[in-house]
Amino acid sequence: MNQDTIAAIATAPGQGGIGIIRISGPKAEEILEGIFTPSGNHSAPLESHKLTYGLILDGEEVLDECMAVVMRSPASYTRENVVELQIHGGTQTLRCVLELCLRKGARLAEPGEFTRRAFLNGRIDLSRAEAVMSLIAARGEQERRAAVRQMEGGAADFVREVSDELYRLQAGLAACIDYPEEISDEEGAGMLRAGLEKLSEKLYASIDERSSRLIHDGLHVTLFGTPNAGKSSILNALTGQDKAIVTEIPGTTRDTVEGEILIDGIRVYLTDTAGMRNTDDPIERIGVKRSELARKNADIALLVLDSSRSISEEEKTWLLELREQDAVIINKSDLEACTTRKTVDAIRPGIRCITVSALDTDTLQPLRSYFRECAEVSDRLVLTQPRHLDAVKRAAAHLRDALATISELTPDMAATDLQAAQNALSEITGDRADEKLLDAVFSSFCVGK
Ligand code: GDP
Repeated sequence: MNQDTIAAIATAPGQGGIGIIRISGPKAEEILEGIFTPSGNHSAPLESHKLTYGLILDGEEVLDECMAVVMRSPASYTRENVVELQIHGGTQTLRCVLELCLRKGARLAEPGEFTRRAFLNGRIDLSRAEAVMSLIAARGEQERRAAVRQMEGGAADFVREVSDELYRLQAGLAACIDYPEEISDEEGAGMLRAGLEKLSEKLYASIDERSSRLIHDGLHVTLFGTPNAGKSSILNALTGQDKAIVTEIPGTTRDTVEGEILIDGIRVYLTDTAGMRNTDDPIERIGVKRSELARKNADIALLVLDSSRSISEEEKTWLLELREQDAVIINKSDLEACTTRKTVDAIRPGIRCITVSALDTDTLQPLRSYFRECAEVSDRLVLTQPRHLDAVKRAAAHLRDALATISELTPDMAATDLQAAQNALSEITGDRADEKLLDAVFSSFCVGK
């Protein structure tokens, strides 16, 4: 338990109907009693977990009316004595009351310090602490659902399960080392090998970096093609804003332009790239370079073709360069068609083709469905945080090393590898976490959480 008492504004900055100040630590209740006068027949000490109406007083001066609650240890978020003051949500009022709490003996909380205390006091493991922050930061529905799964113990349960299996293997290995006359090296290695293979398969199966990226970063889509095919018009139609300049002059979009849309809770980042044509204009050339890079880095690249024109040699090359996840958009379907799905299929059989008109937003529906399909991730995914994936990858690599070592019949070395795997796994739940790791995790939290 910490000896000092921390305080912070827990609600978002800016004006709001209600603002909350949170205090946690041994002096929390004493500070409350020094600044809060309950109304009517209520008196200190307040009943735990019950809201009480009263006034916040700085000496004789009334700072605000308030609803105060005490949550006595251990039944609180930090497992310490916690006080929350619900006051009016004006920036100045909140600042004024917070300053009063600091004068009465609290210190300003660091980012994430309440949650760090919840972790250090054993209320939640590290993966659940991270889930709290992910939930607060979630901008899409997929991210929110993943955070809730993690908060409900998804990652921690998985780690415990794998860890238990690993302990059993470690015990088996210890028996081989301790009783060589009863278990021959070959026998021991055979027994362990099967278990290790199964466990490392399980770890590798849990590493789904693509889904993790989709949940945290959204789907990145790049539109590319010849100038005037209608890329900017499509971006504008999808985002419902005039982000990109649309003109009839080829080469208008000189740099990449980005837009963000939310489709069924999935964040889709669209990049409209400079028309990819050979040009002598140095600025336009930089734009073309960037557009090539954006195409390579995107989850999906969409080659936009103008249906009213025939396919150029350059476009044929691009069609052949498309990756499996990429697609072709045949735009300007409102005009007389020269390029169709059939023409595209003759050059690049099987590539996904979506016919649209940027001038009619209804025709963009199949494109939206395509984005949804590409961004689909399983609701059963247990590991989504990059930090967790990194730890599991290291654990899996140690198991692979252990397998190699066992084949060479050196059980002592395998024991070291198994312990290293166990250590890597325990970083996820924080069973083994040094100050540096905790600082790294909690520094990304907001103050007041
Ligand atoms: P970009 O260079 O590929 O970004 O192309 P723009 O979006 O700037 O569009 C070039 C021209 O084509 C503009 O005059 C647009 O109004 C026009 N345009 C774009 N999409 C369509 C479409 O679906 N139908 C028709 N008829 N014109 C379009």
